[in-house]
Amino acid sequence: MPNIAYVNGKFMPLSSASVSVEDRGFQFGDGVYELIRTYNGTVFHVQEHIRRLYESLKQIEISIKETPTQLERIVQSGVKRCGYVETKIYIQVTRGAAPRNHPFPKEARPTLVMTFRELDLLPPIIFKKGVSIISVEDIRWGWCNVKSLNLLPNLLAREHAVRAGASEAIFVRDKFVWEGAGSNLFAVFGKKVVTPPIGPYLLSGITREVVLALGKKMGLKMIEQKVTLPALYKADEIFLTGTTVEVLPVIHLNKKTIGTGRPGTITSLLHKAFQNEVSPRLPLMIRK
Ligand code: PMP
Repeated sequence: MPNIAYVNGKFMPLSSASVSVEDRGFQFGDGVYELIRTYNGTVFHVQEHIRRLYESLKQIEISIKETPTQLERIVQSGVKRCGYVETKIYIQVTRGAAPRNHPFPKEARPTLVMTFRELDLLPPIIFKKGVSIISVEDIRWGWCNVKSLNLLPNLLAREHAVRAGASEAIFVRDKFVWEGAGSNLFAVFGKKVVTPPIGPYLLSGITREVVLALGKKMGLKMIEQKVTLPALYKADEIFLTGTTVEVLPVIHLNKKTIGTGRPGTITSLLHKAFQNEVSPRLPLMIRK
């Protein structure tokens, strides 16, 4: 089955999907998005992702005619139609197509696009070895809790990371670290697991929430607190969370070694707990 798209009410092969050049998503980045994945064919926390999409839409004053339940049905239908073992789903909503003019158009109808592609899993070795990250100045706008289509600062940050031989760049604003270009940030100090608090400077990651809850259930001290860059160098462990990276250990920050230079114990525990949470459930009969 080919990759497929859903555009304003219709499914089609991704290769034949298109939107107008006058679409405000193309002209201005005037829209928001979500990235969701499946585990063993089940869409992971789909309702939370859809809830976050509606929060983003509300912040930028776009209202769509579809209800959350209808969106979920489209997501589920797309997953079934493409038939992949694991699917990567993007939902993108823009303010619609209209002659280019900054104020919101009166007539435009929002554009709703979803794409369904095969998910490429990260090679297991990177979870065993850990990755390097760099820090960059946060040049993003002040509403980073909105999952905006405007990703230029994230793209520049990630490109600089790749050029430096690193996997991710983390944003520093007002001396504090907030999150990665496409992931949330956690640091372990002794027995405390710290992550920057939600607010305007980071996206409230669905994976971040799952990991916070898992950590609490395991009896770990999970603390939402600001961390400075100098403090982060002294962390015993650092890890990133996100839909694609799951729980990913970090072993170098700006080329300096973190902790022992190997994925830490608490990171590994949380990684295992996360894998357990998402692994296919055995049928009830067999589970016992
Ligand atoms: N922060 C940013 C800037 C992101 O792009 C992402 C990935 N969507 C995340 C955090 C992690 O969010 P989630 O766990 O919902 O994928």
